[in-house]
Amino acid sequence: MMYPSEAEWAGEPNSRRSPGVARTRDHLCFHCHTHLCMTPGRPLVAGLTADRTVETFEIAERLRATLDAGVTSVRDLGGVPSGYRTALERDLIEGPRLQVAVRVIGHTGGHADCSLPGGTNADPHLTEVADTADEVRMAARRVLRAGADVVKVCATGGMGSPYDDPDDEDLTYQELKAVVDEAARRRGKRVAAHAQGTAGIHSALRAGVTSIEHGYGLTDELCDLALERGAFLVPTPATVFAPLDPAAMPDHYFRKKSRWSGVTKENIAHAISRGVPVALGTDAGVVRHGRNLAELAYLVELGMDPLDAITAGTSNAARLLGVDDQLGSLQTGRTADFVVVDGEPLHDIGVLGRSEHIVLVVQAGVVRKDLLRRKGM
Ligand SMILES: [Zn+2]
Repeated sequence: MMYPSEAEWAGEPNSRRSPGVARTRDHLCFHCHTHLCMTPGRPLVAGLTADRTVETFEIAERLRATLDAGVTSVRDLGGVPSGYRTALERDLIEGPRLQVAVRVIGHTGGHADCSLPGGTNADPHLTEVADTADEVRMAARRVLRAGADVVKVCATGGMGSPYDDPDDEDLTYQELKAVVDEAARRRGKRVAAHAQGTAGIHSALRAGVTSIEHGYGLTDELCDLALERGAFLVPTPATVFAPLDPAAMPDHYFRKKSRWSGVTKENIAHAISRGVPVALGTDAGVVRHGRNLAELAYLVELGMDPLDAITAGTSNAARLLGVDDQLGSLQTGRTADFVVVDGEPLHDIGVLGRSEHIVLVVQAGVVRKDLLRRKGM
């Protein structure tokens, strides 16, 4: 776990660090579940009418906002082509370093099916529809060909999709197993499963996915299975803490959200108490971009120790992304990503969720945001 004391910091070179900032702490942060192509309330048909040039600049702006929020690495779980990763690597734009799933794989009529009633696919950039073990294996090959770092599958239905429910299973156990197998053959690529209802979480864990995304229906037995398999939980609590406004969302979405919010909080709190490894991921895109670390407060509200919440966004997240040999902890010889916070997160975890309190963001040794200098501190 990385949470250096003031004394430890005294030995680190950091010429920009100002003794004038009281109660300042240093962290580094990851975010494991975003959709940079989306914004809250974006209708399904937006994919049809989007101007791709304008969208590129919008995504660049969201990347900047995410970096300013104190997040230096992000895993985008659907909708963003791998070219953004290349653009960031070449420093053409500034943002968190990026892992991408490119498109989400699910079955006909499931969570990833963006078909409109007339049959038109509303967003071919977002999803791959596949219906047998062979087809999902092919879909996995297509997303890997497109540069995916991680393969995203749907093990259950979801909230935003009109044709299904979180309790419905999406890809079958055999289909999930085919994707896990295909990904493993490709230099051990990882699989992230959108999994909300209990039955689908069970199939995904048995199939060997790396992470359960959402996990709303996790039971005590499934916590045992997750621990046994070494799977991570990315509980996206921001999606259930956000206030519900029936006027701002489709009926089916409001109905499902209302039904699941309470039980989700109980189940995630239980998973936390059971010690299932948790990694940070708000599902930004479904909720607002640039407020990613506000989720830490939700995790604490669900019973997590503040230090463990910070671990969810640092070393746990780095392990989930398979980059813990370089990132996720502040150690000599590792990549120098960290943020400086004006406040004391162990006493007020909410301070990390407010971008104006993230006063310095350093990524691979490069200063990306510096409010200290701007404020003349
Ligand atoms: Zn998502």
